[in-house]
Amino acid sequence: MNIILMGPPGAGKGTQAGMLARRFSIPHVSTGDMFRKAIKQGTEMGLKAKAFMDAGQLVTDEVTIGIVAERLGADDCAEGFLLDGFPRTILQAEALGGIMANLGRKLDAVVNIDVPNEALFGRMTGRRICRQCGATYHIAFNPPAQAGECDRCQGELYQRSDDTEATVSNRLQVYARQTEPLVTYYREQGLLKTIDGSQELNRVFADICQGLES
Ligand code: ADP
Ligand code: AMP
Repeated sequence: MNIILMGPPGAGKGTQAGMLARRFSIPHVSTGDMFRKAIKQGTEMGLKAKAFMDAGQLVTDEVTIGIVAERLGADDCAEGFLLDGFPRTILQAEALGGIMANLGRKLDAVVNIDVPNEALFGRMTGRRICRQCGATYHIAFNPPAQAGECDRCQGELYQRSDDTEATVSNRLQVYARQTEPLVTYYREQGLLKTIDGSQELNRVFADICQGLES
């Protein structure tokens, strides 16, 4: 199963992708996670990406398409993948079409997690991530059992540097301008499944699973 999870920043893509990856035994491919890993490792690409990310802007198409092409060609993606946070521009979507054609594969569905703008701000500013395993929490909506500590691995929870109030508004504008046109792009291809992402997260998960099975 080759699936794209779309939606504005804070919609719940990462949270749902983690749950879906476990349910369907396919890898969760998140470009945001790949960039954060590169930053942590201090690579040249990570340094370049950090400047864009902290400003709430998109990393260049060239760099992003390059890392995705390499990742989707890896062995663990042979049975399918869940793309989270890619594509984010029409150019990236067109490039993905080419990558898939080269691999002799087809997209099965594009899940669009729809959440009103008013809810997104609080979702992002309240988000916390585990420094060790990358699990995502929310201080109010999905809190860890012990404040500041990951339930799974007891790692320290931190706030992403791009989840500050100033950067969040930029990211929402960038989404509206550069990424939202992809909703029409994939609807026209008959691949789009829109899910109400404002519901409680297990309800969202159940709706996505139902959408994928239908
Ligand atoms: P994205 O990957 O789309 O940016 P995340 O999955 O990281 O979004 O979710 C953003 C924040 O909202 C996280 O703190 C997460 O715990 C929380 N969250 C995710 N889904 C829901 C939901 N259905 N209801 C409330 N909060 C949610
Ligand atoms: P995310 O973890 O998906 O919220 O992404 C965090 C940040 O990484 C974004 O705000 C962008 O700066 C960068 N990023 C992630 N995916 C992409 C992409 N497909 N194209 C460009 N930049 C991206």
